[in-house]
Amino acid sequence: MVKQIIFAVTLLVTIAVFTFTIQRIIRYFKLTRRAFAVRDLGKRFWVMFEVAFVQTKIFRKPVIGLFHALVFWGFCVIAFGSIEMIIDGLFRTDHFLSILGPVYTLIVASGDIFGLVVAVCIAIFLARRLFFHIRRFEGTEMKKVSHMDANIALTMILILMISLLGMNMAFVAIHTGAEAGTPGIYPVSRMFAGLFSSMPAGQINMVYECCWWLHILMIFVFANVLPYSKHFHVFMSIPNVFLSRLEPLGKLPNMDNITREVKLMLNPESIADMAAGEPVIERFGVKDIEDVSWKNYFDSLSCTECGRCTSVCPANLTGKLLSPRKIIMNVRARMKEKGPGLVKEGMSYSDKKSLLRDYITEEELWACTTCNACAKECPININHPTLIIDMRRYLVMEEASAPSGIKWIFGNIENNGAAWQFSAEDRLKWAQDLVIHVN
Ligand code: SF4
Ligand code: SF4
Repeated sequence: MVKQIIFAVTLLVTIAVFTFTIQRIIRYFKLTRRAFAVRDLGKRFWVMFEVAFVQTKIFRKPVIGLFHALVFWGFCVIAFGSIEMIIDGLFRTDHFLSILGPVYTLIVASGDIFGLVVAVCIAIFLARRLFFHIRRFEGTEMKKVSHMDANIALTMILILMISLLGMNMAFVAIHTGAEAGTPGIYPVSRMFAGLFSSMPAGQINMVYECCWWLHILMIFVFANVLPYSKHFHVFMSIPNVFLSRLEPLGKLPNMDNITREVKLMLNPESIADMAAGEPVIERFGVKDIEDVSWKNYFDSLSCTECGRCTSVCPANLTGKLLSPRKIIMNVRARMKEKGPGLVKEGMSYSDKKSLLRDYITEEELWACTTCNACAKECPININHPTLIIDMRRYLVMEEASAPSGIKWIFGNIENNGAAWQFSAEDRLKWAQDLVIHVN
Protein backbone atom coordinates (compact mmCIF):
# COMPACT_ATOMS: atom_id res chain seq x y z
CA MET A 1 0.00 0.00 0.00
CA VAL A 2 2.86 2.39 0.88
CA LYS A 3 4.50 1.67 -2.48
CA GLN A 4 1.18 2.37 -4.20
CA ILE A 5 0.77 5.74 -2.44
CA ILE A 6 4.36 6.82 -3.17
CA PHE A 7 3.91 5.81 -6.78
CA ALA A 8 0.61 7.69 -7.16
CA VAL A 9 2.09 10.86 -5.63
CA THR A 10 5.18 10.65 -7.87
CA LEU A 11 3.00 10.17 -10.93
CA LEU A 12 0.80 13.12 -9.96
CA VAL A 13 3.83 15.39 -9.50
CA THR A 14 5.19 14.26 -12.89
CA ILE A 15 1.88 14.98 -14.62
CA ALA A 16 1.56 18.36 -12.86
CA VAL A 17 5.04 19.54 -13.87
CA PHE A 18 4.59 18.24 -17.41
CA THR A 19 1.21 19.97 -17.75
CA PHE A 20 2.71 23.24 -16.50
CA THR A 21 5.49 23.03 -19.12
CA ILE A 22 3.12 22.16 -21.95
CA GLN A 23 0.78 25.01 -20.98
CA ARG A 24 3.72 27.40 -21.18
CA ILE A 25 4.61 26.12 -24.63
CA ILE A 26 0.98 26.43 -25.78
CA ARG A 27 1.02 30.07 -24.65
CA TYR A 28 4.08 30.60 -26.84
CA PHE A 29 2.29 29.02 -29.77
CA LYS A 30 -0.52 31.54 -29.32
CA LEU A 31 1.99 34.32 -29.98
CA THR A 32 2.81 33.01 -33.45
CA ARG A 33 1.16 33.67 -36.79
CA ARG A 34 -1.03 31.23 -38.64
CA ALA A 35 0.49 29.03 -41.35
CA PHE A 36 -1.15 26.63 -43.79
CA ALA A 37 -4.40 24.83 -43.05
CA VAL A 38 -3.97 21.18 -42.00
CA ARG A 39 -5.86 19.31 -44.75
CA ASP A 40 -5.24 16.09 -46.74
CA LEU A 41 -5.27 13.89 -43.66
CA GLY A 42 -4.83 10.68 -45.69
CA LYS A 43 -1.69 12.02 -47.32
CA ARG A 44 -0.43 13.24 -43.94
CA PHE A 45 -0.86 9.82 -42.33
CA TRP A 46 1.03 8.27 -45.24
CA VAL A 47 3.92 10.77 -44.88
CA MET A 48 3.96 10.10 -41.12
CA PHE A 49 4.08 6.34 -41.70
CA GLU A 50 6.81 6.61 -44.32
CA VAL A 51 9.05 9.28 -42.77
CA ALA A 52 8.42 8.87 -39.03
CA PHE A 53 7.68 5.19 -38.52
CA VAL A 54 9.60 3.56 -41.38
CA GLN A 55 12.30 6.23 -40.94
CA THR A 56 12.96 6.40 -44.69
CA LYS A 57 14.95 9.64 -44.63
CA ILE A 58 17.23 8.55 -41.82
CA PHE A 59 18.47 5.64 -43.98
CA ARG A 60 20.24 8.04 -46.34
CA LYS A 61 23.13 7.40 -43.96
CA PRO A 62 22.66 3.61 -43.86
CA VAL A 63 24.75 2.52 -40.85
CA ILE A 64 24.08 5.27 -38.34
CA GLY A 65 20.57 5.56 -39.79
CA LEU A 66 19.93 1.91 -38.93
CA PHE A 67 21.10 2.48 -35.34
CA HIS A 68 18.82 5.48 -35.03
CA ALA A 69 15.88 3.59 -36.51
CA LEU A 70 16.47 0.68 -34.09
CA VAL A 71 16.39 3.11 -31.16
CA PHE A 72 13.13 4.61 -32.43
CA TRP A 73 11.46 1.23 -32.99
CA GLY A 74 12.81 0.05 -29.64
CA PHE A 75 11.23 3.03 -27.88
CA CYS A 76 7.87 2.24 -29.48
CA VAL A 77 7.95 -1.35 -28.17
CA ILE A 78 9.43 -0.52 -24.75
CA ALA A 79 6.75 2.16 -24.21
CA PHE A 80 4.28 -0.74 -23.89
CA GLY A 81 6.17 -2.01 -20.84
CA SER A 82 6.20 1.49 -19.34
CA ILE A 83 2.41 1.72 -19.61
CA GLU A 84 2.16 -1.64 -17.86
CA MET A 85 4.46 -0.43 -15.07
CA ILE A 86 2.19 2.57 -14.47
CA ILE A 87 -0.87 0.30 -14.25
CA ASP A 88 0.97 -2.11 -11.91
CA GLY A 89 2.25 0.77 -9.76
CA LEU A 90 -1.18 2.34 -9.39
CA PHE A 91 -3.28 -0.77 -8.87
CA ARG A 92 -0.82 -3.19 -7.23
CA THR A 93 -1.17 -5.63 -10.11
CA ASP A 94 1.67 -7.82 -11.35
CA HIS A 95 2.35 -7.66 -15.10
CA PHE A 96 -1.25 -6.62 -15.69
CA LEU A 97 -1.08 -6.67 -19.48
CA SER A 98 -0.20 -10.38 -19.51
CA ILE A 99 -3.97 -10.83 -19.93
CA LEU A 100 -3.22 -10.16 -23.62
CA GLY A 101 -1.76 -13.67 -23.88
CA PRO A 102 0.45 -14.43 -26.93
CA VAL A 103 0.48 -10.75 -28.02
CA TYR A 104 1.91 -9.89 -24.61
CA THR A 105 4.53 -12.61 -24.90
CA LEU A 106 5.59 -11.29 -28.31
CA ILE A 107 5.78 -7.64 -27.18
CA VAL A 108 7.64 -8.47 -23.96
CA ALA A 109 10.16 -10.64 -25.83
CA SER A 110 10.71 -7.86 -28.41
CA GLY A 111 11.04 -5.30 -25.61
CA ASP A 112 13.68 -7.43 -23.90
CA ILE A 113 15.70 -7.75 -27.12
CA PHE A 114 15.26 -4.07 -27.94
CA GLY A 115 16.44 -3.19 -24.41
CA LEU A 116 19.87 -4.60 -25.28
CA VAL A 117 19.84 -3.27 -28.87
CA VAL A 118 18.94 0.27 -27.77
CA ALA A 119 21.58 0.18 -24.99
CA VAL A 120 24.27 -0.81 -27.54
CA CYS A 121 23.15 1.87 -30.04
CA ILE A 122 23.07 4.56 -27.37
CA ALA A 123 26.54 3.53 -26.17
CA ILE A 124 27.74 3.93 -29.79
CA PHE A 125 26.05 7.37 -30.07
CA LEU A 126 27.70 8.47 -26.82
CA ALA A 127 31.12 7.19 -27.91
CA ARG A 128 30.79 9.06 -31.24
CA ARG A 129 30.01 12.28 -29.42
CA LEU A 130 32.68 11.90 -26.76
CA PHE A 131 35.63 10.38 -28.62
CA PHE A 132 35.23 11.06 -32.35
CA HIS A 133 35.28 14.32 -34.21
CA ILE A 134 32.03 14.20 -36.21
CA ARG A 135 31.84 17.32 -38.38
CA ARG A 136 28.04 17.26 -38.40
CA PHE A 137 28.00 17.86 -34.62
CA GLU A 138 30.20 20.95 -34.86
CA GLY A 139 29.31 24.51 -35.82
CA THR A 140 28.98 27.97 -34.30
CA GLU A 141 25.49 27.13 -33.05
CA MET A 142 26.68 23.99 -31.26
CA LYS A 143 27.72 25.49 -27.94
CA LYS A 144 29.07 23.49 -25.02
CA VAL A 145 25.59 23.39 -23.52
CA SER A 146 24.20 21.76 -26.71
CA HIS A 147 26.74 18.94 -26.45
CA MET A 148 26.10 18.56 -22.72
CA ASP A 149 22.37 18.45 -23.34
CA ALA A 150 22.80 15.62 -25.86
CA ASN A 151 25.19 13.68 -23.62
CA ILE A 152 22.93 13.96 -20.56
CA ALA A 153 19.89 12.75 -22.51
CA LEU A 154 21.83 9.83 -24.01
CA THR A 155 23.14 8.85 -20.58
CA MET A 156 19.61 8.92 -19.20
CA ILE A 157 18.42 6.62 -21.99
CA LEU A 158 21.33 4.28 -21.29
CA ILE A 159 20.37 4.13 -17.59
CA LEU A 160 16.77 3.46 -18.64
CA MET A 161 17.85 0.46 -20.71
CA ILE A 162 20.23 -0.90 -18.08
CA SER A 163 17.54 -0.67 -15.40
CA LEU A 164 15.05 -2.34 -17.74
CA LEU A 165 17.39 -5.25 -18.40
CA GLY A 166 18.31 -5.47 -14.68
CA MET A 167 14.63 -5.61 -13.80
CA ASN A 168 13.93 -8.32 -16.40
CA MET A 169 16.95 -10.40 -15.32
CA ALA A 170 15.96 -10.26 -11.66
CA PHE A 171 12.38 -11.11 -12.60
CA VAL A 172 13.49 -14.18 -14.55
CA ALA A 173 15.84 -15.22 -11.70
CA ILE A 174 13.03 -14.91 -9.14
CA HIS A 175 10.75 -17.12 -11.21
CA THR A 176 13.32 -19.70 -12.32
CA GLY A 177 11.98 -23.09 -11.44
CA ALA A 178 8.66 -21.66 -10.31
CA GLU A 179 5.86 -23.94 -11.31
CA ALA A 180 3.67 -21.32 -12.91
CA GLY A 181 6.64 -19.88 -14.85
CA THR A 182 7.04 -16.19 -15.72
CA PRO A 183 4.54 -14.14 -17.66
CA GLY A 184 6.19 -13.34 -20.99
CA ILE A 185 9.45 -14.50 -22.54
CA TYR A 186 12.76 -12.72 -21.92
CA PRO A 187 15.31 -14.04 -24.45
CA VAL A 188 18.14 -11.66 -23.48
CA SER A 189 17.54 -11.48 -19.74
CA ARG A 190 17.22 -15.27 -19.50
CA MET A 191 20.79 -15.58 -20.83
CA PHE A 192 22.14 -13.37 -18.03
CA ALA A 193 19.76 -14.34 -15.21
CA GLY A 194 22.35 -16.94 -14.09
CA LEU A 195 24.38 -14.02 -12.67
CA PHE A 196 21.92 -13.98 -9.79
CA SER A 197 22.15 -17.74 -9.08
CA SER A 198 24.35 -17.33 -5.97
CA MET A 199 22.12 -14.60 -4.47
CA PRO A 200 19.46 -15.31 -1.85
CA ALA A 201 15.88 -14.75 -2.99
CA GLY A 202 15.51 -11.67 -0.76
CA GLN A 203 18.44 -9.92 -2.46
CA ILE A 204 17.18 -10.73 -5.94
CA ASN A 205 13.83 -9.24 -4.96
CA MET A 206 15.65 -6.13 -3.74
CA VAL A 207 17.50 -5.82 -7.09
CA TYR A 208 14.17 -6.17 -8.90
CA GLU A 209 12.52 -3.47 -6.78
CA CYS A 210 15.50 -1.09 -7.14
CA CYS A 211 15.59 -1.52 -10.94
CA TRP A 212 11.81 -1.14 -11.15
CA TRP A 213 11.87 2.15 -9.25
CA LEU A 214 14.97 3.43 -11.02
CA HIS A 215 13.39 2.71 -14.40
CA ILE A 216 10.03 4.32 -13.69
CA LEU A 217 11.56 7.35 -11.93
CA MET A 218 13.93 7.86 -14.86
CA ILE A 219 10.93 7.84 -17.20
CA PHE A 220 9.19 10.47 -15.05
CA VAL A 221 12.30 12.65 -14.85
CA PHE A 222 13.03 12.17 -18.54
CA ALA A 223 9.49 13.24 -19.49
CA ASN A 224 10.00 16.51 -17.62
CA VAL A 225 13.56 17.15 -18.76
CA LEU A 226 12.80 16.58 -22.45
CA PRO A 227 10.81 19.78 -23.09
CA TYR A 228 13.87 21.77 -22.01
CA SER A 229 16.26 19.75 -24.12
CA LYS A 230 16.89 19.05 -27.78
CA HIS A 231 15.53 15.58 -27.05
CA PHE A 232 12.05 17.13 -26.98
CA HIS A 233 12.02 15.72 -30.51
CA VAL A 234 11.15 12.38 -28.87
CA PHE A 235 7.64 13.86 -28.39
CA MET A 236 7.53 16.38 -31.21
CA SER A 237 9.04 14.75 -34.27
CA ILE A 238 6.14 12.41 -35.14
CA PRO A 239 3.51 15.19 -35.00
CA ASN A 240 5.92 17.48 -36.83
CA VAL A 241 6.15 15.00 -39.68
CA PHE A 242 2.35 14.70 -39.68
CA LEU A 243 2.17 18.50 -40.00
CA SER A 244 4.72 18.61 -42.84
CA ARG A 245 4.30 21.11 -45.62
CA LEU A 246 2.86 18.96 -48.39
CA GLU A 247 3.48 21.34 -51.27
CA PRO A 248 6.50 20.85 -53.54
CA LEU A 249 9.64 22.13 -51.83
CA GLY A 250 10.31 24.75 -54.49
CA LYS A 251 6.88 26.36 -54.16
CA LEU A 252 6.97 29.40 -51.91
CA PRO A 253 3.89 30.21 -49.86
CA ASN A 254 2.08 33.43 -50.73
CA MET A 255 2.04 36.22 -48.18
CA ASP A 256 -1.38 36.62 -46.59
CA ASN A 257 -1.27 40.40 -46.48
CA ILE A 258 -0.21 40.71 -50.12
CA THR A 259 -2.88 38.23 -51.23
CA ARG A 260 -5.37 40.32 -49.31
CA GLU A 261 -4.28 43.53 -51.04
CA VAL A 262 -4.50 41.92 -54.47
CA LYS A 263 -7.95 40.50 -53.73
CA LEU A 264 -9.10 43.92 -52.60
CA MET A 265 -7.80 45.53 -55.76
CA LEU A 266 -9.61 42.98 -57.88
CA ASN A 267 -12.81 43.09 -55.86
CA PRO A 268 -13.14 46.06 -53.43
CA GLU A 269 -16.52 44.76 -52.25
CA SER A 270 -14.85 41.74 -50.64
CA ILE A 271 -13.46 43.95 -47.86
CA ALA A 272 -16.33 43.11 -45.48
CA ASP A 273 -15.83 39.32 -45.85
CA MET A 274 -12.10 39.64 -45.37
CA ALA A 275 -12.29 41.82 -42.30
CA ALA A 276 -14.45 39.18 -40.66
CA GLY A 277 -12.31 36.16 -41.41
CA GLU A 278 -8.70 37.17 -41.82
CA PRO A 279 -6.30 38.61 -39.29
CA VAL A 280 -4.72 41.95 -40.09
CA ILE A 281 -0.98 41.42 -40.25
CA GLU A 282 0.93 44.57 -39.51
CA ARG A 283 4.38 43.53 -40.62
CA PHE A 284 5.54 42.09 -43.92
CA GLY A 285 7.76 39.04 -43.46
CA VAL A 286 9.55 37.97 -40.30
CA LYS A 287 11.62 40.25 -38.13
CA ASP A 288 11.13 38.79 -34.68
CA ILE A 289 9.64 35.81 -32.94
CA GLU A 290 6.03 37.08 -32.95
CA ASP A 291 6.19 37.15 -36.78
CA VAL A 292 7.06 33.46 -37.19
CA SER A 293 4.29 30.98 -37.94
CA TRP A 294 3.20 28.23 -35.52
CA LYS A 295 4.85 25.77 -37.89
CA ASN A 296 8.20 27.54 -37.67
CA TYR A 297 8.01 27.32 -33.88
CA PHE A 298 6.88 23.67 -34.04
CA ASP A 299 9.88 22.95 -36.27
CA SER A 300 12.21 24.59 -33.77
CA LEU A 301 10.87 22.45 -30.91
CA SER A 302 11.17 19.29 -33.01
CA CYS A 303 14.70 19.85 -34.30
CA THR A 304 17.05 17.08 -33.20
CA GLU A 305 20.13 19.25 -33.88
CA CYS A 306 21.46 16.34 -35.95
CA GLY A 307 23.08 18.72 -38.45
CA ARG A 308 22.03 16.74 -41.53
CA CYS A 309 20.63 19.95 -43.04
CA THR A 310 23.84 21.91 -42.53
CA SER A 311 25.96 19.04 -43.82
CA VAL A 312 24.32 19.31 -47.26
CA CYS A 313 23.94 23.09 -47.42
CA PRO A 314 26.02 24.39 -50.36
CA ALA A 315 26.39 27.79 -48.71
CA ASN A 316 27.77 26.24 -45.52
CA LEU A 317 29.98 23.82 -47.44
CA THR A 318 31.58 26.69 -49.33
CA GLY A 319 32.46 28.51 -46.11
CA LYS A 320 29.53 30.94 -45.83
CA LEU A 321 28.11 31.82 -42.43
CA LEU A 322 24.74 30.21 -43.12
CA SER A 323 23.82 27.05 -41.23
CA PRO A 324 20.17 25.97 -41.63
CA ARG A 325 20.35 24.15 -38.27
CA LYS A 326 21.32 27.42 -36.60
CA ILE A 327 18.32 29.23 -38.13
CA ILE A 328 15.95 26.67 -36.59
CA MET A 329 17.78 26.61 -33.24
CA ASN A 330 17.67 30.43 -33.13
CA VAL A 331 13.87 30.44 -33.37
CA ARG A 332 13.64 28.23 -30.29
CA ALA A 333 16.19 30.30 -28.38
CA ARG A 334 14.53 33.59 -29.26
CA MET A 335 11.10 32.34 -28.17
CA LYS A 336 12.64 31.20 -24.89
CA GLU A 337 14.08 34.67 -24.43
CA LYS A 338 11.21 36.90 -25.53
CA GLY A 339 8.21 34.57 -25.07
CA PRO A 340 7.78 35.16 -21.30
CA GLY A 341 7.79 38.96 -21.79
CA LEU A 342 5.24 38.77 -24.62
CA VAL A 343 2.99 36.50 -22.55
CA LYS A 344 3.22 38.81 -19.53
CA GLU A 345 3.09 42.24 -21.13
CA GLY A 346 1.32 41.63 -24.42
CA MET A 347 2.39 41.86 -28.04
CA SER A 348 3.73 45.40 -27.64
CA TYR A 349 6.49 44.10 -25.34
CA SER A 350 10.00 44.85 -26.55
CA ASP A 351 13.38 43.86 -25.17
CA LYS A 352 15.16 45.99 -27.80
CA LYS A 353 16.40 42.86 -29.56
CA SER A 354 15.10 40.86 -32.51
CA LEU A 355 15.51 37.47 -34.17
CA LEU A 356 16.86 39.30 -37.19
CA ARG A 357 20.34 40.71 -36.55
CA ASP A 358 20.63 39.75 -32.83
CA TYR A 359 20.38 36.05 -33.74
CA ILE A 360 20.38 35.75 -37.53
CA THR A 361 22.40 38.14 -39.63
CA GLU A 362 21.55 39.50 -43.07
CA GLU A 363 24.72 37.87 -44.37
CA GLU A 364 23.40 34.44 -43.37
CA LEU A 365 20.00 35.08 -44.94
CA TRP A 366 21.35 36.27 -48.29
CA ALA A 367 23.80 33.33 -48.48
CA CYS A 368 20.89 30.93 -49.03
CA THR A 369 20.52 29.69 -52.62
CA THR A 370 17.00 28.33 -51.86
CA CYS A 371 18.16 24.97 -53.24
CA ASN A 372 16.04 23.15 -50.62
CA ALA A 373 18.73 20.54 -49.96
CA CYS A 374 18.31 21.17 -46.20
CA ALA A 375 14.54 20.60 -46.26
CA LYS A 376 14.95 17.48 -48.39
CA GLU A 377 17.56 16.03 -46.05
CA CYS A 378 15.88 16.83 -42.72
CA PRO A 379 14.67 13.52 -41.23
CA ILE A 380 11.61 15.18 -39.70
CA ASN A 381 10.60 17.36 -42.66
CA ILE A 382 11.55 20.73 -41.23
CA ASN A 383 11.37 23.43 -43.88
CA HIS A 384 14.12 26.01 -43.46
CA PRO A 385 13.92 27.98 -46.74
CA THR A 386 10.38 29.26 -46.15
CA LEU A 387 11.55 30.95 -42.93
CA ILE A 388 14.69 32.30 -44.58
CA ILE A 389 12.58 33.75 -47.40
CA ASP A 390 10.14 35.29 -44.92
CA MET A 391 13.03 37.04 -43.18
CA ARG A 392 14.31 38.28 -46.52
CA ARG A 393 10.79 39.48 -47.32
CA TYR A 394 10.90 41.60 -44.18
CA LEU A 395 14.27 43.07 -45.19
CA VAL A 396 13.12 43.94 -48.69
CA MET A 397 9.57 45.06 -48.04
CA GLU A 398 9.98 46.84 -44.71
CA GLU A 399 13.55 48.10 -44.84
CA ALA A 400 14.32 48.13 -48.58
CA SER A 401 17.47 46.33 -47.58
CA ALA A 402 19.06 43.86 -49.98
CA PRO A 403 22.51 43.21 -51.45
CA SER A 404 23.29 45.71 -54.23
CA GLY A 405 23.14 43.04 -56.97
CA ILE A 406 19.58 42.17 -55.99
CA LYS A 407 18.51 45.82 -55.66
CA TRP A 408 19.67 46.32 -59.22
CA ILE A 409 17.42 43.47 -60.35
CA PHE A 410 14.49 44.92 -58.39
CA GLY A 411 15.05 48.26 -60.16
CA ASN A 412 15.01 46.51 -63.54
CA ILE A 413 11.81 44.65 -62.70
CA GLU A 414 10.18 47.93 -61.64
CA ASN A 415 11.32 49.88 -64.70
CA ASN A 416 11.51 47.26 -67.45
CA GLY A 417 9.16 44.52 -66.27
CA ALA A 418 12.05 42.02 -66.39
CA ALA A 419 15.26 41.27 -64.50
CA TRP A 420 17.44 42.63 -67.31
CA GLN A 421 18.49 46.20 -67.90
CA PHE A 422 16.80 46.54 -71.30
CA SER A 423 13.44 48.19 -71.77
CA ALA A 424 10.54 46.14 -73.06
CA GLU A 425 10.74 47.79 -76.53
CA ASP A 426 14.35 46.66 -76.96
CA ARG A 427 13.75 43.04 -76.11
CA LEU A 428 13.60 41.77 -79.67
CA LYS A 429 16.53 43.81 -80.93
CA TRP A 430 18.74 40.72 -80.74
CA ALA A 431 16.64 39.21 -83.53
CA GLN A 432 16.48 42.17 -85.96
CA ASP A 433 19.49 41.15 -88.10
CA LEU A 434 18.64 37.50 -88.19
CA VAL A 435 17.97 36.05 -91.61
CA ILE A 436 15.14 33.61 -91.42
CA HIS A 437 14.84 31.07 -94.20
CA VAL A 438 11.34 29.89 -94.86
CA ASN A 439 11.14 26.75 -97.00
S1 SF4 B 1 17.98 26.12 -49.15
FE1 SF4 B 1 19.47 27.59 -48.34
S2 SF4 B 1 19.84 26.91 -46.26
FE2 SF4 B 1 18.90 25.20 -47.35
S3 SF4 B 1 20.60 23.97 -48.14
FE3 SF4 B 1 20.03 25.38 -49.76
S4 SF4 B 1 21.37 27.14 -49.43
FE4 SF4 B 1 21.44 25.97 -47.54
S1 SF4 C 1 16.57 20.97 -38.98
FE1 SF4 C 1 16.32 18.79 -39.37
S2 SF4 C 1 18.23 18.14 -40.33
FE2 SF4 C 1 18.59 20.13 -39.41
S3 SF4 C 1 19.43 19.71 -37.41
FE3 SF4 C 1 17.23 19.94 -37.14
S4 SF4 C 1 16.39 17.88 -37.35
FE4 SF4 C 1 18.49 17.81 -38.13
